[in-house]
Amino acid sequence: MTEAVDVAIVGAGPYGLSVAAHLRAARVDFRQFGIPMNQWRAAMPRGMFLKSQGFASNLSDPRGAHTLASFCRMTDRRYADYGLPVPLDVFVAYGDWFASELADDLDPTLVTNLAGRDGEFELSLADGRAVSARRVVLAIGVEHFVHMPSILRGDVPVSHSSELADPTSFAGLRIAVIGAGQSALESAALLHEHGADVQIIARSPAVLWNGPPLLPDRALWQRLREPEAGLGSGWGTWFYSRQPALFRHLPEQVRVHRARTALGPAGASWLRSRVEGKIPVRTGQSVVTVRAAGGDVRLGLMGRGGERTEVSADHVIAATGYRPDLQRLAFLDDALRQRLRTVDRTAAVDAGYQTSVRGLYMIGPAVAPVFGPVMRFVYGTGHAAGTVARRLAATAGSPARSTAPSAAGTPR
Ligand SMILES: Cc1cc2nc3c(=O)[nH]c(=O)nc-3n(C[C@H](O)[C@H](O)[C@H](O)COP(=O)(O)OP(=O)(O)OC[C@H]3O[C@@H](n4cnc5c(N)ncnc54)[C@H](O)[C@@H]3O)c2cc1C
Repeated sequence: MTEAVDVAIVGAGPYGLSVAAHLRAARVDFRQFGIPMNQWRAAMPRGMFLKSQGFASNLSDPRGAHTLASFCRMTDRRYADYGLPVPLDVFVAYGDWFASELADDLDPTLVTNLAGRDGEFELSLADGRAVSARRVVLAIGVEHFVHMPSILRGDVPVSHSSELADPTSFAGLRIAVIGAGQSALESAALLHEHGADVQIIARSPAVLWNGPPLLPDRALWQRLREPEAGLGSGWGTWFYSRQPALFRHLPEQVRVHRARTALGPAGASWLRSRVEGKIPVRTGQSVVTVRAAGGDVRLGLMGRGGERTEVSADHVIAATGYRPDLQRLAFLDDALRQRLRTVDRTAAVDAGYQTSVRGLYMIGPAVAPVFGPVMRFVYGTGHAAGTVARRLAATAGSPARSTAPSAAGTPR
């Protein structure tokens, strides 16, 4: 039998849990599907720390009461303090607590198919059940969008950094880590600290490191010159952090470029001493050939001046990030996918995060080309969850309102 609900939330990471908290407070009838905090639990290395500061790592609830700081106070942990990196296991425990307090009826079943049209959707679940919903919120994070450069996709021992849950499993092996972002640098540090012989290979001419967090009690003129916001310091970063609704009005080309490049690859200040002088870093090197040779993987590198070298490793970790792309959402029915207007291969959404299919909403990293880089971070839950829940509450019980981006036009 098909269960009918008003709203289905697909996803139970920071974005999905935050929407659930807001919808519950607004008394909207909803069901939520997904594995709670799945990306954080299954696709990040044990021993990792968050790069975002504690104050910028809150899930969103309408009263702003279920913060990381309140969880840490309640459980006698200090990690939400200014400048102290938050351990991954503390953040996962925080997410679980948030879910148990505000989203406790979530169903940890995956959606295997989503079909439908304006205001009428059918969801098939992995256990064979079916659910119909008038509105659907996709909060599916980045797990469907792993980016593995084509050159690394051959028959050689290569894993994406999302597969490195247990850094101890590579002890004693020679590992080449490709990339220069936080994920590459922290994976390399964890592998090195657990007994692997690691080297980092980066295309960029140098590894960039963020400075230590600015003191909150700086003089007013210092705060005016370089304000601190959720994603970091400086006016540009303040804009991305605080003004996603204004960001949406930038020209599409600018939005796409900024969503891809703003807050680009750099290591956290607290990670620097765990990498520099401990792990060899080959900068300015592109991987141009990859081949297996007698159990080894050989990477052919080309420097910026065209000089060629080769390195050998037992295993390669590609810390090459994620690229949202609707074509890769296997659970999305083709007919529905074709009706979605896109920007940079992902869904274009309107001011209320509604796609061009009425009643279908998308939030989180996939809509960074619309609302900006803040969507790539937990900090973006504040804007996304509150906005979507207000829209859904305002139209609860009535046919899905037609404010979606038109097939050809700009999202409003
Ligand atoms: C290594 C790493 C470190 C990071 N560190 C930080 C950091 O320090 N600070 C920060 O702000 N951000 C960080 N991020 C980014 C962070 O992952 C995102 O900000 C955040 O997880 C996005 O939340 P989300 O709810 O959109 O997605 P996720 O947390 O990825 O959750 C996705 C949810 O969707 C569900 N789902 C997917 N497909 C289906 C389906 N078919 N059916 C049902 N459910 C489905 C999953 O089960 C899961 O519950 C990091 C990312 C990585 C990869």
